[in-house]
Amino acid sequence: MAVIRQQDLIDSIEDALQFISYYHPLDYVKAVEAAYHKEQSQAAKDAMAQILINSRMSAEGKRPLCQDTGIVTCFVKVGMGVQWDKTDMTVQQMVDEGTRRAYLNPDNPLRASIVSDPAGARKNTKDNTPAVVHIDMVPGEGIEVMIAAKGGGSENKSKMVMLNPSDDIADWVVKTLPTMGAGWCPPGMLGIGIGGTAEKAAVLAKESLMDPVDIQELMERGAQTTEEKLRLDIFKKVNDLGIGAQGLGGLTTVVDIKIKSVPTHAASKPIAMIPNCAATRHAHFHLDGSGPAELTPPKLEDWPDITWEVGENTRRVNLDTVTKEDILDWKVGETVLLSGKMLTGRDAAHKRIQTMLDNGEGLPEGVDLTNRFIYYVGPVDAVGDEAVGPAGPTTATRMDKFTDMMLEKTGLIGMIGKAERGPATVDSIAKHKAVYLMAVGGAAYLVSKAIKKSRVVAFEDLGMEAIYEFDVEDMPVTVAVDSTGANAHQTGPAIWKVKIEDLNKKLETS
Ligand code: SF4
Repeated sequence: MAVIRQQDLIDSIEDALQFISYYHPLDYVKAVEAAYHKEQSQAAKDAMAQILINSRMSAEGKRPLCQDTGIVTCFVKVGMGVQWDKTDMTVQQMVDEGTRRAYLNPDNPLRASIVSDPAGARKNTKDNTPAVVHIDMVPGEGIEVMIAAKGGGSENKSKMVMLNPSDDIADWVVKTLPTMGAGWCPPGMLGIGIGGTAEKAAVLAKESLMDPVDIQELMERGAQTTEEKLRLDIFKKVNDLGIGAQGLGGLTTVVDIKIKSVPTHAASKPIAMIPNCAATRHAHFHLDGSGPAELTPPKLEDWPDITWEVGENTRRVNLDTVTKEDILDWKVGETVLLSGKMLTGRDAAHKRIQTMLDNGEGLPEGVDLTNRFIYYVGPVDAVGDEAVGPAGPTTATRMDKFTDMMLEKTGLIGMIGKAERGPATVDSIAKHKAVYLMAVGGAAYLVSKAIKKSRVVAFEDLGMEAIYEFDVEDMPVTVAVDSTGANAHQTGPAIWKVKIEDLNKKLETS
């Protein structure tokens, strides 16, 4: 009978969460590298280059891949023969303790993103606990752990449906995916759970994302099972949609489709679909009583040697002097290098600004948005000589409900975020002759290198959701909605869907 020390599980959880905060799984890196080389859409290729460069920089600097360091999701399979050295903690408590230590590690503090009382006060628990833990009892004498740090942007796009038994699963995926926008930071994977009951399908979908990227091997050896056939079918159909990296249009939207299924009721066909994003992060380890798990760090040579330079004619913008008139000739799809001061703000800050303006209080001291840009971000705390920790964009779509008010009442002229804006927001941007710029979601450490100074100017109590002033130098962004309302997230995928249809026809006739 194996005796497992509680401390070994706690230490292993801590180490694994630190490890995955800066090391992408190499199978994901290799899959994105292959997609990068194949990509014909320049915007998508540029985005993947930034994701790969960011990945290598994070591995080198041992700093988080993304500012959203995720909600901890842990599958623990406990052997029936396991005996614990102590019985004063539950598995949930041990995983939480490991999570707490990992997120508060002073050498690489991770962003605490978990809020308690989610339907009410939404107060940050400050240590990223509790984790979501799934426990199974299995035959054997050891403990198997699969642990992930799941980004909120991708988790928010999860979908669930109870199909009719005769309905086609691939059809539902292909119909549903375009409704999910780009807030899940493609290229990534789709985890699909089929069968059981509603909640079982969701857990299967999440667990499937712990499997390695291996669709190319499946293509080579050919599908044998229903699940494998479905994986290949969905993989092709989804990539044929032309959504592309970051939703900008291109050949690769997903690098794999993972599926797990279990038997279900004759009347039911429960399906859950959960996307994994550009910050795909998971690790697996086994405890057998001989001590904590040891995770082997990848070698830096395993990362592709990819460089990315902006073109010579790239527009350079001084944020300290830019005016509403200046932005009128910025064109959708154009790369812009930003230098100067910008303010930050995300969900909680926008909500508070709205309340203050509604109450006639005006903006808080230090927050003057006239002719300014706001960056939707919640950064990781800085360490050492960093101005700020990883600070990539959060999903702009969540700020849509505030955008018209911000443009109307504050003098704001532009916003920086990731993913698409809704139709009403695009109309509002055009009406106010403003712009929406996009930074690459999942390239947070790379983006943070353009931030030279950072200070909190308002709402300090909101922690990472406070309003910061960033002083940036040559921060690369793409014009995603210009002042005429031209919208890259609409035109890019539409153009690439048609191009892919043409490419497929040529392949069929060749
Ligand atoms: S890559 Fe995108 S979805 Fe994933 S954690 Fe980062 S910001 Fe969130």
